Amino acid sequence: MSGNRNNCEAFEEDDDLYGVGSVTSAIYGPGVALYALGWETAPDKETEWSGYEQRTGRVLCVMVGDDCYFSQDPDDLAPLDREEYCGECGQVGCQHDGYEREG
Ligand SMILES: [Zn+2]
Repeated sequence: MSGNRNNCEAFEEDDDLYGVGSVTSAIYGPGVALYALGWETAPDKETEWSGYEQRTGRVLCVMVGDDCYFSQDPDDLAPLDREEYCGECGQVGCQHDGYEREG
């Protein structure tokens, strides 16, 4: 087994991650809205026989409107309301996705 792996699938779901269902709730990452997929995991020395990976303490996210994956420090993330970001391009403050916003 090589050291190369698909990080996109190495995470552990946790619906309590941001209080609401993590997969559908957007969070504020580096300038764009991200969906939190769950806790990033990585194999350790026991993974080969246990089959379990360990949480890295970081959160695996995917960009809204794209398929770029990011590993983020939970301290750098904050929950976003649906009105605050664009569902198409993922930009915070963009309102071009046709979502009904107050005001
Ligand atoms: Zn947009």
